[in-house]
Amino acid sequence: MDFRPTEEQEILRRTVREFAESEIRPHVMEWDEAQQFPSDLLPKLASLGLLGITFDEKYGGAGMSAVDYCICIEEIARVCPSIALSVAAHNGLCTAHIARFASEELKDRYLPRLVQGEVLGAWGLTEAGAGSDAAGMRTTAARQGSCWVLNGAKTFITHGRTGGVMVVMAITDRSKAHRGISAFVVEHGTPGMSAGKKENKLGMRASDTSEVIFENCRVPAAQLLGQEGHGFIDTLQILDSGRIGIAALSVGLAQGAYEAARDYAKERRQFGQPIASFQAIQWKLADNATRIEAARLLTYRAAYLRDRGMRTTRESSMAKLFASEAAVKAADDCVQIHGGYGFVKDYPAEKYFRDVKLLTIGEGTSEIQRLVIARQLLGQ
Ligand SMILES: Cc1cc2nc3c(=O)[nH]c(=O)nc-3n(C[C@H](O)[C@H](O)[C@H](O)COP(=O)(O)OP(=O)(O)OC[C@H]3O[C@@H](n4cnc5c(N)ncnc54)[C@H](O)[C@@H]3O)c2cc1C
Repeated sequence: MDFRPTEEQEILRRTVREFAESEIRPHVMEWDEAQQFPSDLLPKLASLGLLGITFDEKYGGAGMSAVDYCICIEEIARVCPSIALSVAAHNGLCTAHIARFASEELKDRYLPRLVQGEVLGAWGLTEAGAGSDAAGMRTTAARQGSCWVLNGAKTFITHGRTGGVMVVMAITDRSKAHRGISAFVVEHGTPGMSAGKKENKLGMRASDTSEVIFENCRVPAAQLLGQEGHGFIDTLQILDSGRIGIAALSVGLAQGAYEAARDYAKERRQFGQPIASFQAIQWKLADNATRIEAARLLTYRAAYLRDRGMRTTRESSMAKLFASEAAVKAADDCVQIHGGYGFVKDYPAEKYFRDVKLLTIGEGTSEIQRLVIARQLLGQ
């Protein structure tokens, strides 16, 4: 067993950290307040390979491993969880679904554009009435001659407005329940597809989230992604790897919050001494640092197993569950250690506190992760 990162991984971590510190940190609050994804950042992310982290070099991807992917997401999230969410959704959901299950024709058409940052990818599973119970969706795709005609609406879609390409799950045969759901690649701007309400969110505000509506939206038959009826089954595999990404995002956010709390505790003086000298503060720092290490180990182990071609349903859910809940605690303690200054926007604590809550909700709530883990344990 070897827990040491390789020299290349050390360099990767340093490179992404420097990029996040110089290109993202100075703008974090400006982008949060504007509630807008900074499109100027796309070519910069692409030039570092961050929009095609694990994808084949023949499409312009960086060809990195799942462990490398975690390093990238963790380092961006340490500085701005919101940008990390956009990068994770683009890589881990939309682009991953196309790279894994699409025909060569679709891969050739979309992967180069996605990995070069020409367009951001969106991925639409959730609907207003179908969140945790995603297979209960109502959006349909009906075959008409050489086209599929999509009708319905997807809710809470990352890059629903700003994206250029979307993978959409829709019912193609209602009688077959979850085996009657298929995936499609739809380009934003296709007649009949429109962005609905933009969500005004608690956190992750630089990452655009909106509704996407399909009204008699006709897409060529070749836009079917993977086999007909396999969309939901493939989705479960995409979520297995996507959840490792959310776990890495949680580790990064927790690390950022912990560092902000530690630095403030050393600087802030009360009763004639730095508050870091009080045991109550030390215990919070020690507990958070320990939880973050444990979360990191679960996350990187799940990624390591993926890199060896193993199915990681249980490990991904365990990493996501533990890391996201550890991050919630780290962000809460960060505000507490800052006292009143944790409640105002001059310090990073309040933003970590707002951003973190998405992590126990997106890509399956904590309750759903427990359900997935229990099913795996009980062999159901
Ligand atoms: C910022 C943001 C970005 C998102 N991005 C995307 C995206 O890009 N693409 C996409 O498809 N979706 C996206 N989502 C949707 C996200 O995945 C869902 O919000 C999530 O799966 C939960 O679904 P829901 O909100 O409908 O909650 P619900 O499913 O209604 O859950 C409500 C509560 O009930 C609990 N619950 C539900 N079922 C059970 C059960 N069986 N046992 C115990 N408890 C249960 C839940 O844990 C939760 O606490 C995003 C959401 C947000 C907020």
